[in-house]
Amino acid sequence: MKTIGLLGGMSWESTLGYYRAINEGVKQHLGGLRSAKIALYSVDFEPIEQRQHAGDWDGTADILAGAAQKVEAAGADFLLICTNTMHKVAPRIEAAISIPLLHIADATAETLVSDGIQTVGLLGTAFTMEQDFYTGRLTERYGLNVLTPNTADRAIVHRVIYEELCLGKIRKDAKADYLRIIADLAEQGAEAVILGCTEIGMLVTQTDTPVRLVDTTAIHAEKAVAQAIS
Ligand code: GLU
Repeated sequence: MKTIGLLGGMSWESTLGYYRAINEGVKQHLGGLRSAKIALYSVDFEPIEQRQHAGDWDGTADILAGAAQKVEAAGADFLLICTNTMHKVAPRIEAAISIPLLHIADATAETLVSDGIQTVGLLGTAFTMEQDFYTGRLTERYGLNVLTPNTADRAIVHRVIYEELCLGKIRKDAKADYLRIIADLAEQGAEAVILGCTEIGMLVTQTDTPVRLVDTTAIHAEKAVAQAIS
């Protein structure tokens, strides 16, 4: 079994989900007392978040490239960055290490394409919904048509992530807002909606809506398990 490298802590709330999902996946495939071999480096999120909102992406990349090198030195065979947003600096992180990166957008898009989905809604931070590093990859590499919420709703989705979900706060009115936004995207033609932020699965799950949800944390963890035991 290969050792899975995790670059986590963004936020730690969602890294917990990765740890659980990866171990459950290994147990499901291999049975008994089998569990995942994981090398995790969990960062202090606030300095990262401050640099994101100040537009200092090079500063975030410096921190994460150093952390990724520590994950590699700890024996990881491949790396997951446990956040969609920080894939903005994935090229800088990849350049700093010699193990392969399992990109979260590729893992997600491969699932969508194999399920025959062409038009997909996307929820995530404003960075993920509005900048090209994520939507561009889905569109250019996988031919997906990506729909995002309107300006006001993007602001709601972004605010809830940083002011609530990353702090472990799960609130009913935030859930109602998300479900309304998901329904709107489906009405505009989305065949599925990507939960493109690793905390959103803490707020909404498939049992809450008839719209197909594609949880990036779950898919990323599942692909990591497949790669580790292959
Ligand atoms: N975990 C989130 C994501 O998947 C947001 C936190 C961050 O900015 O990294 O995008």
